[in-house]
Amino acid sequence: MHIKTLLNYVTNFKGFVFQDTQLDRERNRLLIQVVPRKNSKPICSRCGRPGSTYDHLRQRHFFLPPIWNIAVVLLYTMRRVDCKHCDKIIVEQVPWSTGNSPVTKQFATFLAFWARKLSWKETAVSFRVSWDTVADAVSWVVQWGLAHRDLDNVTAIGVDEIQYHDGQNYLTLVYQIDKHCRRLLWIGKERNKETLHAFCDFMGEQRCKAIQFVCSDMWKAYIAVIADRLGNAVHILDRFHIVANLNKAVDEVRRSEVKKLKDAGKPAYLKKTRWLFLRKKNRIRGHARTRLRELLGMNLRTVKAYLFKEDFDHLWTYKCPAWASTFIDDWTRDVMRHRSLPELKKFARTIREHKELILNYFHAKKEFSSGIVEGFNNKAKLTIRKSYGFRSDKLREIALYHTLGNLPVPEVTHRFV
Ligand SMILES: [Zn+2]
Repeated sequence: MHIKTLLNYVTNFKGFVFQDTQLDRERNRLLIQVVPRKNSKPICSRCGRPGSTYDHLRQRHFFLPPIWNIAVVLLYTMRRVDCKHCDKIIVEQVPWSTGNSPVTKQFATFLAFWARKLSWKETAVSFRVSWDTVADAVSWVVQWGLAHRDLDNVTAIGVDEIQYHDGQNYLTLVYQIDKHCRRLLWIGKERNKETLHAFCDFMGEQRCKAIQFVCSDMWKAYIAVIADRLGNAVHILDRFHIVANLNKAVDEVRRSEVKKLKDAGKPAYLKKTRWLFLRKKNRIRGHARTRLRELLGMNLRTVKAYLFKEDFDHLWTYKCPAWASTFIDDWTRDVMRHRSLPELKKFARTIREHKELILNYFHAKKEFSSGIVEGFNNKAKLTIRKSYGFRSDKLREIALYHTLGNLPVPEVTHRFV
């Protein structure tokens, strides 16, 4: 069987034919000459119409997925089109090209597939290409996916924020959390009103109207814009974000007490206890449990805050919104009685202030559980961590869409992976 037969089997380049093939043993690559089919006209890359050949450019290299660890390179001399429609001389469009990159659509799809399983660096090493080539491949596949995805039928979204650059910057991430489709929808810089307005502008009025549920945390800027622009939606303050805020409050109590103990020259009882107090009591085992038991016997503010936190967990067991409401009233009243816990009182006040939105979680029959947004949040953080060293914000976004966007993939004749 000829190599050409195999190439025709995996590709479908209308208007082009494979000519000479040659094995370059020194550089371990298969060179394949491609030429236009006789009498075929070049296609203008701007308007997509055929025109007459104006001239030829220099021969370019295009990489297909490797075979048996041998690089597969197409050699092609691009034509320029004298396009009557555009009234200009334009470079032709060839069916395998992704633009200026030497990576073909087939190879880009191949690399992007592996770049979801391996890091970009590992992908580059495994297929003997540069890191930039992997970045180009993923970027092209993501751009294609963004241009071809369907944004209709979004009825439930989750709004979340993540930190990057060691917590100095924020990104707002909007997820679709419908049962039929869960994915990252949109990324915006910062976490202010303008950010969420930009999301609503992006979706357009019609699609905003179709949104029935929005999950978010108690961030004021979000709450205001959601009320303003997503008027048809039930706004749910979800469990994940509330628990995260409560944990933060407990940790603030602990930190201020650590400092106070130190200033007063007392023993460092609370040294290295951060994770101990953030974890759920029934999940603490062994030595840590003994340590916790000892601490719980002490008269410490942190211990009080911790017990309140443990108690608050009970809220999520309610099915009926009215009972949940009573629980919130009781719990916040108890917290407010403790003058020594200003950090927790602040949390209790926010909970009271947003009680209606929190109860929406119970009204929505807990359908939009914390698990979905939390899962996305964890994956997004991991992607950001893995992408450490990405030179640009653009590539960080590309990586997030690539891992979480559930984007459609360009169609190629043959599945290489
Ligand atoms: Zn044209």
